[in-house]
Amino acid sequence: MPRPRLALHWKVLIALALGVTAGALVHELWTPQVWESLGVKDPAAFLAHKASDQNAAAGVLAEGVRFVRAATEFIGQLFLRCLRFIAVPVVLFSLVLAVAQVGDLRTIGRVGGKTLLCFAFTLACAVAIAVALGALVAPGSLVTPEARDKIIAEYGNRATEVVSNAAQVREQGVFGYLLNIVPTNPFSAIANAQMLQVVATAFLLGVGLTLLPREKAAPVVGVCEAITEAIMKVVELFMLAAPLAVFCLISQFVSNVGLGALWSVLAFAACVVGGLGLILFLEYPLLMYFTTRAGNRMTPARFFRGMAPAMTVAFSSSSSSATLPVTIQCARDGLKVPPDIVNFVCPMGTTLNMDGTALFQVISVLFLAQLYGVELTLAQHITVGLMAAVVSVGVPGLPSASIIMMAIVLDSVGVPTQGVAIILAVDRVLDMCRTIVNVAGDTTACVVVAGSEGRLGKDE
Ligand code: ASP
Repeated sequence: MPRPRLALHWKVLIALALGVTAGALVHELWTPQVWESLGVKDPAAFLAHKASDQNAAAGVLAEGVRFVRAATEFIGQLFLRCLRFIAVPVVLFSLVLAVAQVGDLRTIGRVGGKTLLCFAFTLACAVAIAVALGALVAPGSLVTPEARDKIIAEYGNRATEVVSNAAQVREQGVFGYLLNIVPTNPFSAIANAQMLQVVATAFLLGVGLTLLPREKAAPVVGVCEAITEAIMKVVELFMLAAPLAVFCLISQFVSNVGLGALWSVLAFAACVVGGLGLILFLEYPLLMYFTTRAGNRMTPARFFRGMAPAMTVAFSSSSSSATLPVTIQCARDGLKVPPDIVNFVCPMGTTLNMDGTALFQVISVLFLAQLYGVELTLAQHITVGLMAAVVSVGVPGLPSASIIMMAIVLDSVGVPTQGVAIILAVDRVLDMCRTIVNVAGDTTACVVVAGSEGRLGKDE
């Protein structure tokens, strides 16, 4: 009798749990004394393959450990590279196809309008939840000034770099930013993975194809369709390696960082995680429940079962762009949203719709304002919410991308930008959590739009 096979999402979740456990054990137990007993007195130099007399006695066992660490990193990074390699073509071809397949400009307007409305609604909810939580819990008032100064001393250098990056972004201004969405050369936008510009290119090309007579557009639409299908097949292959890759990524992260950085700013981290939890487990399920029809409702169990692989990849990669191919696959195969709606909503959502990021920005800024004793008026709270909403649209789906943009929001209400150092201390873990919400938000929009068109779960 054939043994029942474990579904992919279970395999990935088990790999995640094993990876966290293995990483935490290594972090706790693999002390400098253990290295020394293997003949390695300078572990950092040894791991980086740098010559050092202190490591002259390193034996075969130490070499073996170094190899295992390098191999773990290799497997995790290879998986991410494979996913990133498809991120640009996926956005380009699936969005051209989706826009062209919608058929006429009125339908593009209707589906596009619903999509943007859904993005705007969930964004407004995320910001409102964040302002309420940040003001009510007031996590900044719980940190002592000594703890604040200690963290700034440790992370200050990286913060200076982040703040100067933000200055470059700020110099563009609003109009410069808007202008930049339209590429002067679409090929350079594609080559440099400028996602907002790639979305604009794909959208315009799709609209152009819609305006052509059907027979003329058919060859291009056919090519886009074949390439999108081929990419999805490639993603299916990559996903066979997902459990192993997730194990490698997460065990490596936890073994390097440990879970200790969280403690001093625990209330802040709890506030962010609590807010993300509210969005993920309450707001999205309610929204999907009430916008889908009886007989084909999107229940929370159905949603989380279908989305588990994408959520685990989002958690371990901290990048919604890299997760996009998996997100598309889960929405189509796991949630049964028609491919044309998935191809339309997901690529746009990855770029424009980041509720987790917006919530994180707001709570971080309110936290730092409380920490530095900057009293914010009601109008300033609103400014923080609006700025964070705008900034979240411009944040690329990459690890820690929020941090660079945060200085802009801090500046808008006069909170010291060096406070970014405090956020940096816990950003890795929070980034993993908010990326899950960013990805789940895109598929929530897919379900809402498909539900409102009466097309959820239809095999067409
Ligand atoms: N890492 C996030 C994402 O890819 C962006 C952020 O830093 O908020 O969705």
